[in-house]
Formats: sequence, C-alpha cells, structure tokens
Amino acid sequence: MAVQSNYKVVVVGGGYAGTLAANRLRKRDDIDITLVNPRPTFVDRIRLHQFVAGTGEATIDYGSLLGEGIDLVVDSATRIDTAARTVRLASGGDLEYDYVIYAVGSTGVIPTSVPGAVEIAVSMAEWESAQRLRAALEELPPEAPVTVVGGGLTGIETAAELAEQGRRVALVCGGVLAPSLSASTRRSISRWLSRHGVVVVEAAEVIEVRPDAVVLADGAVRPSALTVWAAGFGVPGLAAASGLRTDGLGRLLTDETLTSVHDDRIVAAGDAAAPSGQPLRMSCQAAAPLGAQAADTVLSHIAGIEPMVIDFAFTGSCVSLGRRGGVRQFARKDDTSQNVYLGGRIVAAYKELTCKLGLFKIRREASKPGSVPWLKGGPRPAQPVSAARAVRIP
Ligand SMILES: Cc1cc2nc3c(=O)[nH]c(=O)nc-3n(C[C@H](O)[C@H](O)[C@H](O)COP(=O)(O)OP(=O)(O)OC[C@H]3O[C@@H](n4cnc5c(N)ncnc54)[C@H](O)[C@@H]3O)c2cc1C
Repeated sequence: MAVQSNYKVVVVGGGYAGTLAANRLRKRDDIDITLVNPRPTFVDRIRLHQFVAGTGEATIDYGSLLGEGIDLVVDSATRIDTAARTVRLASGGDLEYDYVIYAVGSTGVIPTSVPGAVEIAVSMAEWESAQRLRAALEELPPEAPVTVVGGGLTGIETAAELAEQGRRVALVCGGVLAPSLSASTRRSISRWLSRHGVVVVEAAEVIEVRPDAVVLADGAVRPSALTVWAAGFGVPGLAAASGLRTDGLGRLLTDETLTSVHDDRIVAAGDAAAPSGQPLRMSCQAAAPLGAQAADTVLSHIAGIEPMVIDFAFTGSCVSLGRRGGVRQFARKDDTSQNVYLGGRIVAAYKELTCKLGLFKIRREASKPGSVPWLKGGPRPAQPVSAARAVRIP
C-alpha cells in the first residue's frame, strides 16, 4: 500500500498572520511547513513609529517565534502557479505545495498623483522605508520641521512619537483627525497633540511635496525638511500577478473560510485577505486570529472535513501618544466606536501590554499549537461569497 508522504504547506509572508499560522499548522506532525519571507527577521510593524523616533526596536529573531521544524526561506514569492502547484521565488527556485497560506500583509501607498510625493516623501508603513526615515531623522537638526501626512491612527502615533522626542511636527490630516474614533476620543487626542506642540491641519490635503516644503490644497506652503507619508495602505500584487481573483485593492478574494474563490488550495490571512469581498480592518488585532483560522482551514482541507467560517470580533483601538500617553477607544463587535474611551499613562502601559501580547500569541502557538484564543461574535455578511470548490477558475 502506498504511504502518504508529508503534506507540503507554504506560508507566504512572515508577519503576524503568517507566522502564527505556520506555528498552528504544527497541530499535525505530517506537514512540511515552509515560511517564505523577504527578511531573516520578523518585523513588529506596530512598533515602526517607535523605531523611526528612536524609542524602540521593531525586529525580532524568527528563532524566538517559530516552532520547531518550520523551514524559513528568506526570499520573495513572485508567482503562485496553481496549475503546477508551485510558488516561484525571486531567487529563481520553486517550492511545491499542497496548500498555500497567503499572508503577504499590506504596504504603504504614496500617490503618484501628488507631484514630488513618490520621490521625496517616505512611507511609514514598511521596514525598509522606516529605516530610511530613521536615518534621515538622525541627520536632521531637532528644530527642522517634519510633516506627517495622514490623520489616521498610524499618522497620529507617528506624529506623537516624534513630538515627544522634541521634533517640530505638523500633522496634515486631509480630513478630520482620527475619523474612525468617537468625537470625545478625537478631542482628547487633539488636546494631547496641541500640548506637545503638534500643529494639526485637519481639512487640508497635501497636493505637492517639495524637498523643503509641502503645498496644501488651499495654496499654503508649509516648510518641511522631512515628509512622512502615513496616509493609506495598499497590498502586495502577488495574488493579481498570479492570476488569482482579488478585490479592488488586490487582496485575495476568499469565501468565509478564508479559502480562495479561485483555488481551494490557497487560503488567505491578515491584511491581504478579503473574505466575501468584505475585509476586516487592516490590523494586527485581526491578523493573528485570521492566521489561526487560516491554519485551521488548511487542516480541515487536509482532513477532508468542512472548514469553519471565520468568527472574530474587534475590541476597539488603542493609540499610543508617545511613551507616556495614549487613548483606548472602546468599540462594538462590528468595530464601530462607542462614545467611551480611556486616556493617560494607564493606556500607555496597556498599549505596551497589547504590543507584547501580539508576540506572546505567536510564541504560544509555537510551543502549544492550537492554543491561542480570540474574541468571537463579530458580524459577517448576510450573503457571503460562495465556497471556492464551486467556482474553480482555470
Ligand atoms: C506604524 C504602524 C503602527 C501600527 N499599529 C497598529 C496597532 O496599534 N494595532 C493594530 O492592530 N495594527 C496596527 N498596525 C497595522 C498592522 O501592523 C498590520 O495590520 C499588520 O502588520 C498586518 O499583519 P499581516 O500579518 O497581515 O501582515 P504584515 O505584518 O504586513 O506581514 C506580511 C509579511 O509578508 C511579507 N511579504 C510581502 N510580500 C511577500 C512576498 N511576495 N513573498 C514573501 N513575503 C512577502 C512582508 O514583507 C511581511 O513580512 C500598524 C501599522 C503600522 C505601519
């Protein structure tokens, strides 16, 4: 009788979702697990603003995060060939798979429509650009004006971190400050920023970036020795480049079990997943549970049983304001903000704890696969997209 050789699962992307998923797959001992990531170290993206401001580090050795037996391949996937069942690597090799977990995360996006932005502004969203920002800041005198573009949570955390380090910061929001938070939380953030000397320009958009200034839509020219772009996220183009079905942004389109609607051997997790075309908010908060659920879906496919539909609820947002402040926005399970928040030093301590918790969960899956719990019960679409198996596309 032929003996079934080990299953091969390739996890593409070693962020919060992919690393946790790789660890959780070890619930079975007959899977060869390969994690493909472009860097040899894990990037703790939620600390990139700290890294940029010099108040923290943002890389961690995979050795302390990955369970035994997982093969880390430092490379980038350039194509998933669903017919040959291989993942093509930038270095030229191919990895064979029975299943792929697609966890390539998200990227910063600097719009080409804003003259000078791509050439001069630097994104906050990725490790390589964060390194460039830190190096640029080290060269800048403390009194040099810095502009942060984007009034969402990443922009706020970045502006606050830099201001607390004594930088002269302007935050250009292009709309209201922190639109996803309640009015009272926004006021609290606004007060903190103002106390720390951050000039918040709410309504105006940046329409041009120059080496020494930004030009706003109302014609104002604000001096800016360094322009940090923290407005908007995109996703890597791997799914589209592989001919897989995606949503408008390029996230892999899946059913409610995170299985690709194009090919049921591909399962998505984290920021790069669009279940039923209705993705969860891009966040570390959602990425880890989605990673766990993606691993469980692959394990169900292997076992020949029906995978569970995703079940996850948000708990709100926690925004750091430097190292000694923050706001904790409470939210309903569908992620809409309630009119309740906490602020102050206690939140700074709480935020630090939640950052550590993200890594703790990954390590816990490494030592005890299948053990990480998460909050459930958030709403999902009444009409989810149909299961992949029914709509395989050649
Ligand atoms: C400054 C900042 C602060 C943030 N703060 C918070 C916060 O407080 N709370 C919160 O919930 N979220 C926060 N976020 C968002 C959070 O970091 C992301 O939502 C989260 O990282 C998504 O996790 P992920 O595993 O899907 O992807 P990622 O963490 O982005 O990991 C994806 C990995 O895949 C790799 N990859 C990409 N393409 C390929 C390829 N072709 N081949 C191989 N590997 C590939 C990437 O290089 C990366 O290592 C913050 C983000 C930033 C930038």
